[in-house]
Amino acid sequence: MTGILLVQGDITHQSVDAIVNAANSSLLGGGGVDGAIHRRGGPEILAECRALRAARYGRGLPTGQAVATTAGRLDARWVIHTVGPVFSEDEDRSELLASCYRESLGVADALGARTLAFPAISTGVYRWPMADAARIALETVRSAETAVEEIRFVLFDTPAYEVFARQIG
Ligand code: ADP
Repeated sequence: MTGILLVQGDITHQSVDAIVNAANSSLLGGGGVDGAIHRRGGPEILAECRALRAARYGRGLPTGQAVATTAGRLDARWVIHTVGPVFSEDEDRSELLASCYRESLGVADALGARTLAFPAISTGVYRWPMADAARIALETVRSAETAVEEIRFVLFDTPAYEVFARQIG
């Protein structure tokens, strides 16, 4: 049985086995939560991202997939980088957003992580409406087969937290 928890705050301050990063496909860092994770986690994370890029993801990590690195100086063992879809009015990309959560849980299971923190993937620069993103995130993790015991959604501000709280019921 997996517990699902909502937390308001900065995901880089969480103590968990794995912190999920809403990365971009370059794996070379960016703004938002990605920038915060690299800033606080230190250069070891970027060094591993570069190595992964060179070895396996020359064309970038595809949208909806996930891959793990060290967590550097963060209070976690791993960072799991996943690439959310950019929101589109014309095309339903929900399955790709769900895939980010499923694939991240799959990576967490492969690593043996028992506690996991997710940001609200795609809801920043990628513009996914928060309520819909929350619905997809919660439905996906609730229906996943996983050995992860605790999933924490870490929402950066009060409005995001409230939207998730309404969806979780
Ligand atoms: P994306 O490109 O997937 O949209 P962003 O990093 O721009 O990723 O935003 C994803 C979500 O993460 C947004 O809701 C944003 O407010 C939130 N966010 C930004 N910084 C942090 C942080 N340090 N901790 C938790 N959430 C954060």
